[in-house]
Amino acid sequence: MSGLDEKLHDIHEEVLRRNPGEIEFHQAVHEVLDSLGPVVAKHPQYADEAVIRRLCEPERQIIFRVPWVDDNGQVQINRGFRVEFNSALGPYKGGLRFHPTVYLGIVKFLGFEQIFKNSLTGLPIGGGKGGSDFDPKGRSDGEVMRFCQAFMTELYRHIGEYTDVPAGDIGVGGREIGYLFGQYKRITNRYESGVLTGKGLTWGGSQVRTEATGYGTVFFTHEILKSRGESFDGKRVVVSGSGNVAVYAIEKIHELGGTVIACSDSSGYIVDDKGIDLDLLKDVKLHRRARITEYAEQRGTAHYVAGGTVWEVPCDIALPCATQNELNGHDAVTLARGGCTIVAEGANMPCTPEAVKLFAESGVTFAPGKAANAGGVATSALEMQQNASRDSWSFGHTEERLAEIMRNIHSRCVETAEDYGQPGNYTAGANIAGFIQVADAMLALGVI
Ligand code: GLU
Repeated sequence: MSGLDEKLHDIHEEVLRRNPGEIEFHQAVHEVLDSLGPVVAKHPQYADEAVIRRLCEPERQIIFRVPWVDDNGQVQINRGFRVEFNSALGPYKGGLRFHPTVYLGIVKFLGFEQIFKNSLTGLPIGGGKGGSDFDPKGRSDGEVMRFCQAFMTELYRHIGEYTDVPAGDIGVGGREIGYLFGQYKRITNRYESGVLTGKGLTWGGSQVRTEATGYGTVFFTHEILKSRGESFDGKRVVVSGSGNVAVYAIEKIHELGGTVIACSDSSGYIVDDKGIDLDLLKDVKLHRRARITEYAEQRGTAHYVAGGTVWEVPCDIALPCATQNELNGHDAVTLARGGCTIVAEGANMPCTPEAVKLFAESGVTFAPGKAANAGGVATSALEMQQNASRDSWSFGHTEERLAEIMRNIHSRCVETAEDYGQPGNYTAGANIAGFIQVADAMLALGVI
């Protein structure tokens, strides 16, 4: 990969050299630099004042040991991370991921993406990300609690309402945020609601935060459809994953008249031509944390396919909502041949660079995660607003704020892509609009 302008190519080479082996981070940086050629040509100060080079180097990176005791009395050791990437627009903001694949390269890719995503929301939040290689799968509630307490015992000294505000990501939901918040409160003796988002509704959380990433992705897709004079009515949609993002994307698609005919988990996928039964899916995946095969066992109209890829199912719209690099070039060709015309990323960087290139070549509209899935973090910022004013808003009001933010992100992407001569290119629109806002703030704040 390269194909970048000379100055940007040199910056990318420097990133590769300084961060060996961090392939997901390299990919995320390349994807942004790839859009910045016309920006640097028009505004050379961004390159001259090393804004882009500074952006590629996190402001602070914290790596720590997380020792905890499992149910058998054995000491377990995990590694914890928090990468505080950029605070030009506000306190560092971004989720925590607990998954065995987590290492510095994943946390840095996510943190880097978060800078531009958070900028696109138009809200005052910087970019950061964290997590651990802890695998919550098969762990008891007690083990998850002890792990979260051990994790926060180090993390608490680095975070705060005005400093760094973590939330959830893969493997971190309401249960984990509860244990993390409890330990923060116990260590600091402060009920500092604004230190974490994704909290429960009875202790400082916001309505719609749980649903926000999935709903937001669907609102964004709806804007794309509206710009073509279409709607979700009668559309067949395939969603990958079956976690929080996927489930609430499915809920909103059904509300808007579309039909989700397939979704997946790490073992395989299910096809249900009648449309996914959301109550059953929520029960199997969110409440019981069971395998998706159980859905097919309990629902006569559905069948389960072991292994394979959910992108084999022909559809009009595809929403990858599972994890990074889950949709490759081959899948992109399969989707386009099956009649798919829109792909919007509910997950972070689920489409490989080859897939993105093939979408453009086959006329499939592609909406990158930093725009399409920004609804989650945007609603986290709304949770921070409510915490700061010791207020709590209704579901309807909060959802309308989210919908408005997604409409604004959509129009900023469209207008910016047009301004830079690439109409219809949501990747260019998102990267350039997100970048300019952060870069201008960095220039204003001086060399820090
Ligand atoms: N993990 C989510 C994301 O990828 C949300 C982060 C947050 O709410 O801070 O944007």
